[in-house]
Amino acid sequence: MLHATVTRFAPSPTGLLHLGHAHSALSGWRAAREAGGRFLLRLEDIDPGRCRPEFAEAILDDLHWLGLDWDGPVRRQSAHLGEYRDALAALERRGLLYPCFCTRAAIAREVAASAHAPHGPDGPLYPGTCRRLDPDARAARLARGEPHALRLDMARALAAVPGPLSFDEAGVGRQACDPARFGDAVLARKDAPASYHLCVTHDDALQGVTLVTRGEDLRPATDLHRLLQALQGWPEPAYAHHRLLADSSGRRLAKRHGAPALRALREAGRSPAEVRALAGWPD
Ligand code: GLU
Repeated sequence: MLHATVTRFAPSPTGLLHLGHAHSALSGWRAAREAGGRFLLRLEDIDPGRCRPEFAEAILDDLHWLGLDWDGPVRRQSAHLGEYRDALAALERRGLLYPCFCTRAAIAREVAASAHAPHGPDGPLYPGTCRRLDPDARAARLARGEPHALRLDMARALAAVPGPLSFDEAGVGRQACDPARFGDAVLARKDAPASYHLCVTHDDALQGVTLVTRGEDLRPATDLHRLLQALQGWPEPAYAHHRLLADSSGRRLAKRHGAPALRALREAGRSPAEVRALAGWPD
């Protein structure tokens, strides 16, 4: 039996949607609707410091205004923290995670002091300080309730999955993955119960997403996502990483570069059809 296409749009409610988000949402929505499949909406709101309920409401409203509809209820990650905890516990039981007590400043000092600090897609690679902690010292610090993140032991994780990993880029073909370039990635932060990488792979599997449509800025993250899927025995979706919209000077649209919010365009009298065209998806 052929499986129907399931896509999703998964914004983080840290601000108002801009044209770049509209492009991404329309990419997923169109792919699902053209295939007679399902389009899901997920709010990635696990970071309590950056996410705001008013932005979540604004996202739903702006998407409706833009003419998008989605199937089933909106999944809000903040309502499912127990599921992410369970997913982390499964990795922990296999010895694939370790607690990291380092502060950002301590890591930065260590990186600065080292002659060849390798960099990955998320910044300088963690030097592995807490991986090498003496087990008694580690247990004592945990018993004292010292705040800690959870990191993936990359070497052990790679040893726990068969063969080289790859993924299917729609219309392009198999792409090789190199998750090691993330080093010992953080899967739960001190201030957030689970990382983007953990939650996104968990939810794509749980929600039966078959095609992940998202910007090419997240292309490197797919290498780590394939590793997490392989470790957890989760199904492998296909990926369609789309180009990022640029402004007239060729600069990538982003909130920090003043990309126009959908709301501002709407208030300026643009119609949904005009905004869909501005977002690269004319009707
Ligand atoms: N929540 C992520 C973001 O807003 C997108 C996640 C994804 O599409 O994989 O950048």
